[in-house]
This record gives sequence, structure tokens and C-alpha cells, in this order.
Amino acid sequence: MSKIGVIGGGKVRISGLSATYRFARYCPKHHIRLYESSRSTGGWINTIKTTSGGLFETGPHSVRVATNLQSSAYALSLMTELGLEDDVIFRTAKDPAARFRFAMFDGEVTRLPYSLPSALLFNKLSIAEKLQMGLGLFKKQNHKRDVSLYDLIKETFGQKPADYFIDSMTRGIYATSSKNLTVPNTLAAVEKYFMTGIPAVNILKAIGSIDYTFPAKPFLEPYDPHLLNTAKSTKAKVWSLKNGLQDMIMKMTEVVQNADNSKIYLGTSAKLIRKHGSKLRIADSNGSEEIYDQIFASGNPKTLSCLLHPDDFPNELIELLAGFESTQVYVTLVELKNMVLPKSPGFGFLVPSCENPDILGVIYDSCNMPEHDGRGARYTIMSTRPHNELPNLVTDALGAIVEEVQVAWTHQIKGSNFKNVR
Ligand SMILES: Cc1cc2nc3c(=O)[nH]c(=O)nc-3n(C[C@H](O)[C@H](O)[C@H](O)COP(=O)(O)OP(=O)(O)OC[C@H]3O[C@@H](n4cnc5c(N)ncnc54)[C@H](O)[C@@H]3O)c2cc1C
Repeated sequence: MSKIGVIGGGKVRISGLSATYRFARYCPKHHIRLYESSRSTGGWINTIKTTSGGLFETGPHSVRVATNLQSSAYALSLMTELGLEDDVIFRTAKDPAARFRFAMFDGEVTRLPYSLPSALLFNKLSIAEKLQMGLGLFKKQNHKRDVSLYDLIKETFGQKPADYFIDSMTRGIYATSSKNLTVPNTLAAVEKYFMTGIPAVNILKAIGSIDYTFPAKPFLEPYDPHLLNTAKSTKAKVWSLKNGLQDMIMKMTEVVQNADNSKIYLGTSAKLIRKHGSKLRIADSNGSEEIYDQIFASGNPKTLSCLLHPDDFPNELIELLAGFESTQVYVTLVELKNMVLPKSPGFGFLVPSCENPDILGVIYDSCNMPEHDGRGARYTIMSTRPHNELPNLVTDALGAIVEEVQVAWTHQIKGSNFKNVR
């Protein structure tokens, strides 16, 4: 019998709450304790309902299927296990939400090329710029490890691809400009190729051939492949739940709360982790201390680095964890009164820094999950500064796609994304 401490009750694919849930459900001989600083489990997952009956996700909007990734396969198996199989909503490769992405070009929301012919017809690049991009594929890549992603792309493919394709993409994924990121931060699996003098086209091939094969025999039991098989046969790209992602949090929390071997300490932060002979000791924000055989920690690595006592843990480990930098992203949820989604259906649009340094992008929630609509079109605006510092945020973000912005409901939360600085 062993005692296990888990720090942080968040979850997207596999994290603190799902680890606790697994122990509670399948390992009755282990005692498990989950420390969660906030008053509820779920981490960034939180679904809220508007007065018109619409649903918004304040954190993750959907979960990627990526049928060859183990964590995605287990997340789908978990939905079956929790009795939520009939509530899973898939978005497939055919849906506009999966096919079309947009970016702001000269104040206009423009569909990004999604195939070679559409790239050749793309009217925001001149013939000379397209030629420069094509020739860039054969340019030998010999860069310093700390060159910024922006400079690397600009040098290889030209200024416009760096400004519009790469910068908008990193702002969408990492909530920061490509000028602040390097190849090791973003493409760690292929970073060595950027220093060996091979042409860019060979690196693209290497990226395409990264193998994440799902093992023939699942490493966790029970594993139910039914939803994954449905996802594969329908070419599903992402999924959510009929009543929002919060449902899976509630179901898992219920199992943990009803199990004899597990306890959730809500509103309780882990403050310090120390070695205790061959075991580990957690001191918490209520002044209590407990001894564990093992500890699982989820969430921000930088936070974890502050919990490890420097006398008991190697300095290299503490420094490595402290090196994960974070950046703030503000999320504003907007529902437009009695409106259906206007022109340009697709996932949403990204905004490069050269177009607007404050707005990162807009997600067309009504296109991605129409099942969550109430009486109005729903949008999520991501920004680098809060709503109250950007008085025209909603009109600046939505003005390019909606003629008259009549805001029926807005709600703002602060989120954070992490970039790995090594
Ligand atoms: C705005 C936004 C949108 C996103 N959209 C998507 C998306 O669409 N799809 C997707 O897959 N991912 C998305 N992500 C990323 C996703 O939210 C994270 O990858 C995920 O939340 C990480 O889960 P986690 O459990 O590791 O951490 P978290 O969800 O951050 O949970 C960590 C938990 O630990 C608790 N905690 C922290 N310190 C302590 C402590 N000392 N003691 C006790 N408890 C502590 C926190 O309160 C929190 O509940 C998004 C992120 C943001 C911010």
C-alpha cells in the first residue's frame, strides 16, 4: 500500500484530476490526496452559460483527436468510461471549422491558403514574394540555436511569410510573437536539422514523418477503442461535449469524492515539497504536512520549481523547471444579440503583431460548436491586455467581420499559455 499526493486538479488530456481519478477508481490499495489551490477542480476547463442559453468555454474549447497520439486515444476512452459517449461531438475534416483558417491582412480578414493551388492563387502575396517563398524551400539551413523563429523564416522565405503566416501562428498557439521564440522552443523534435546545412524542404519532410504510432497493445487498462474508431472513420479533428467540457470534470470529481481511498483538498495549495527519508513531504497552505511515497505535479512548471526545497532537490532540476516562461492571455467571450454567424465561416482568424499588437485572434465559436449556441452568434477574443485597458476591443476585433457590433453579453477572464524556454 502506498500514499500518493497530486498537486493541481486541472485536466485536458492527462493531468492532475485524471491521475487522481484513475487511482481512485482502479487502485483501491493506494491512498491518494489531491491538492487544488482554487475552490473547484478542472484547472482551465470551465463551461459557463449565457442568459440566452449559449455555452462558452473559458479555457480549452475542444480537444484534438490526433488519432495516433496515445493521450488523445485515452481521453476518448475516458469519455466512454464516464458514460459521456453519447455526448461527444466530433468536428470532422469536412467541417469549415477544421478546413478554413483566416488571418488579418491590411485590416481585412483573409482566408489562408490550404492547398498548393490555393497558395498559388493567394492574392495577398505578389508574384515576386511567391517566387521568393518557393526558392526558400531549397535554401540551406544553417542557423544559430538562439535565432528567433521570425528571423529564420524571414531569411528563408521573406518578410511577408514571417509577418503574416508565422507571427500570427505563434501568437495563436503561444500567445507571443515569433520574435520571442526560437526553434528549440517550438520545433524541438527537428531542431538539429536547422544547424546542419540541409535545405528547408527536407526539414518539412522530416516534420511530416514524425512517428507517434499508437501501440498495438494499450499501456493503460481498461481501454475502450470505440470512440477512437469512430473518430478515425469519420476523419474527426477535434471533439467537445454536448453540455461543455465541464461535464467530464464533474463526473471524474464525483468518482474521486465517493471513493474510500481518495480525498480532494479544495482551496489548499501545496507550499513546499521536502525529502523525508526515502519519502516526500508536502506542506500546504493550511499549515498541515503529509508524507507521501510518490507525488504527481501538474500545471505550470515554474510554480513547481518554487515548491521544491533547494536543500533536497538538484539545482539543475529546479533551474530547468524555472526556465519555462509564461505569458498572459486575456479571453473575452462575446455573444451578439439575435445574430447568426456572419460571413467567413471557419475556425477563426489570427492577428499578426504588425496588424494589431494587442489582439491575438478571434475564434468563431458558433462555427466550431453550433450545438452550444443560444440566441446569438458567439466569439472568443484573445488579447494581450485586459478588456478595461482596450475600450474598443470588441469593435476592433469584430468590426472586420460584423457590420454593426451590438454586444448582448461579454465576459472576461484571464488565462495563460506557456512557452518552453530551454
Ligand atoms: C485560454 C486558453 C485556451 C486553451 N485552449 C485549449 C484548447 O482548445 N485545447 C487544448 O487542448 N488546450 C488548450 N489550452 C491549454 C490547456 O488549458 C492546458 O494545456 C491545460 O489546462 C493544462 O492542464 P494542467 O492540468 O496541466 O494545468 P491547469 O489546467 O493549469 O491546472 C493546474 C491546476 O493546478 C492548480 N495549482 C497550481 N498551483 C498549485 C499548488 N501549488 N497547489 C495546489 N494546486 C495548484 C491550479 O489551480 C489548477 O487548477 C488552453 C489554455 C488557455 C489558457
